[in-house]
Amino acid sequence: MQDLVDELHERFAPLDDGAPSDSLPELAGVDPDRFGISVVDADGERFEAGDVASGFSLQSASKPFVYGIALERCGAGRVRERVSVEPTGEPFNAIGKLDEEGRPFNALVNTGAIAVADFVHADGEDDLPARKALLEERLGRYFGRRPAVDEAVLGSAREREHRNRAIAHLLRDHDRLHDPVEDTLELYFHQCALVVSTQDLANAGLTLACGGRNPLTAVRALPVEHVPALLSLMLSCGMYDRSGEWAYEVGLPAKSGVGGGIVAVVPGRMGIGVFSPRIDFQGNSVRGMRVIEALSERLKLHTFAVR
Ligand code: GLU
Repeated sequence: MQDLVDELHERFAPLDDGAPSDSLPELAGVDPDRFGISVVDADGERFEAGDVASGFSLQSASKPFVYGIALERCGAGRVRERVSVEPTGEPFNAIGKLDEEGRPFNALVNTGAIAVADFVHADGEDDLPARKALLEERLGRYFGRRPAVDEAVLGSAREREHRNRAIAHLLRDHDRLHDPVEDTLELYFHQCALVVSTQDLANAGLTLACGGRNPLTAVRALPVEHVPALLSLMLSCGMYDRSGEWAYEVGLPAKSGVGGGIVAVVPGRMGIGVFSPRIDFQGNSVRGMRVIEALSERLKLHTFAVR
């Protein structure tokens, strides 16, 4: 396994298709050649190559975990009333696409993710610091350590992400947000601005692979009953508007972010975290996709593979 990870790192390092996201100056300024692969199996054994310990911006790869907080705090029924579970086939930041009941299509595109951030509430404490603390604490359970926030990325998002502001106001107009719009947006910007490593992402993938309990720390991150829903959503909607092809070819629940990270889950077996900031026009890390695709093919990891 280590040989395979080394081989894939070597094979895909020269691939220079794509470019770092230009959505925020901090993302655009990341060294485009950074590249790391982390795989961790259910026994806690790690197989890694490249840039695996240093941080990068989590961005949309935060979305499944925050959806998990919403499911845990409010129950699948209430969350589903406000956010559907259908793929959109449209870009992640498409504005205004709601279903016939006025719900965002799913929690892994911006419209749904902003609606989901509204559900992140600490017990009896509704102020923003308590909500941010809950967010960091819960995501920390997956990673095995509490993530820090990149204040520069957060500040830039507040200043520049007018499209997300528009989405939040649209949701408010459709009565899909209950908290003050500014608070919900701030939580959404905060989750995207968290800093992670590929090791954190691999640990998070492993936690979902192991029924929601992080086997490395023995801490439960998500009640077991919500794991199938989360993984189904990642399989059908996790890779932006390439999700259908991804499910067909690679067959692993995954989520990417425009920071260049991808987390993938091999149910019952392992977690995978890959980082390379060169993303394609759809928002997925080019090397990241190639690595996970190759792992799936070589190890026959497709969820529906006949072994
Ligand atoms: N904060 C980014 C946005 O909402 C996240 C984009 C992404 O990773 O998909 O535009």
